[in-house]
Amino acid sequence: MNSDQQQSSGYTGITFDHSSVDLVLSKIPKLARDLTGADYAAVTISQPHAGMRIFHDGLDKNIKWQDKELPQGRGVLGRLGPVDSPIRLDDISSHPDSYGFPDWHPPMKALVGIQIFAGQGYKANLYVSNAPNNGEFTTRDTEILNQLTQFVKFAMEFAELHDRERKTRMIIEATENRLQAVIDGSLAGVLIISASDKLLIGFSKQACTILGCNLEVGTTLTEIHNSVDFFDINGQVISEQDLPIEKALTDGIETVASEMMLHRPDGSKLPVLVSAATIRIHDTEIDSTVLILQDLSDILQNEQMKSDFLSMVTHDLRSPLALIKGIINEMDVDVNTNGEIHADLESVDEEVDHMTELVSNLLDMSRIETRTKKVDSEICHVTDILADAVQRASSFRYGVDRTVTISVPGDLPKMYADPGQLGRVIDNLLSNAMKYTSGDVDIICTHVTESDNIRTEIKDKGNGIPVTLNPEIFDKFFRIRSGKQGAREGAGLGLAICKSVVEAHGGQIGVKSNEASGSTFWFEIPRDRLSR
Ligand code: ADP
Repeated sequence: MNSDQQQSSGYTGITFDHSSVDLVLSKIPKLARDLTGADYAAVTISQPHAGMRIFHDGLDKNIKWQDKELPQGRGVLGRLGPVDSPIRLDDISSHPDSYGFPDWHPPMKALVGIQIFAGQGYKANLYVSNAPNNGEFTTRDTEILNQLTQFVKFAMEFAELHDRERKTRMIIEATENRLQAVIDGSLAGVLIISASDKLLIGFSKQACTILGCNLEVGTTLTEIHNSVDFFDINGQVISEQDLPIEKALTDGIETVASEMMLHRPDGSKLPVLVSAATIRIHDTEIDSTVLILQDLSDILQNEQMKSDFLSMVTHDLRSPLALIKGIINEMDVDVNTNGEIHADLESVDEEVDHMTELVSNLLDMSRIETRTKKVDSEICHVTDILADAVQRASSFRYGVDRTVTISVPGDLPKMYADPGQLGRVIDNLLSNAMKYTSGDVDIICTHVTESDNIRTEIKDKGNGIPVTLNPEIFDKFFRIRSGKQGAREGAGLGLAICKSVVEAHGGQIGVKSNEASGSTFWFEIPRDRLSR
């Protein structure tokens, strides 16, 4: 054997993903030779779909292994059994199972073969051949090699674990990169804050633009709080502990799309939609929170333009409608002897009522949507509001010859509310009762002591609303097409407006209705807070 052969060490085979296992196995042949003084040592690995691979030491390093026939897992090598039962031969050529080694293999005499590992189709063997001085391998050599294979088995298990951990780390890194790409591509400002030390651990470029300040990983939440302020839609500054990010971090309370005004370091203001979500470990402990800021300035500007246009149109329509209504009523008196003209005037009157209601509702809705409809509360009594509404309803086309009974207990407390807006709520509920039903309408007011609310109920005895539709009836543009015979359909805005107005007063609205006994629309407003 020449020195070149002795020092050579090589590896052939297909690259496979157990790179740490390979690293361990590649060291074994040299170690085995060093320990036993053998001329050659090799580790063969057979693996499903990967064929046979070899790590070797002492064999000619110039051998192009890929062109050669590799040792087969048969013959002596094929017989290698469990880890602790090695084969030791003094002269392999005299053994009946000496086949299995390729022709090009240098001549061999003494041989020890040990199985390192076998399982799941994966098999690794170690063999050493040609003992020093052309002699034989000793029992001690076999024991040493046996111990080496035991060590290798453990090393392989560790290596396998290491590989798995490396792969997991790669998956995490790829996921992080993908997440960062999504965050960077987002039009919203995204900030991720760690729960343990309240530091910024990730953010989108847009977050800097929206907040108007520089951010970097490691920026503290306190630094962000010191740079910007958030105000609610009523213009009140939101204290630090009430900010969505703090509520999410401290109590795990998430915020979905809350509108706020952001005051930036340069003094500029920006309307934003703020959401905050928590990221939890094992569904319990809060790891971090995500703050999402959406610039609303373009949307609000468009809404304002739409509303300005609508207000202009509706104002310009309302005045001529009121004029036409007045003229028709006067003419009706003059011509009430001529039945044909009277009928024509009635239908013009009906059209005018319909258009007036539509225009008023459109105007209300546009004010609600752009929040230009402010609640102007004062201490008032529901009786006055009801009396005015019933008066208005009597001049309404469907209000003629309809009896509206108001029942209010003498000691009903006052409310703190906007009488004009509550009047519009009652106008809408009363006009619906008249449009969609025939017969009398009862209005009942009560003081609900448990909630300390003033409750107003408007009851009709019409065909009611199918129970399944009761929850949707307050949605914008929701209409049921089976109204009273001959009734003009509205735009489906009346009840949506009622809901917004009542909720802006801190109250609630609902309906109890069935097709047998008619509908009871009700709303509750908190009693006068000032007189409590
Ligand atoms: P609209 O302008 O169409 O009247 P609303 O929001 O006021 O819009 O009402 C929505 C729908 O609810 C109406 O289309 C009508 O079908 C139904 N509705 C409202 N009030 C009553 C009622 N008192 N009785 C029966 N149906 C009603």
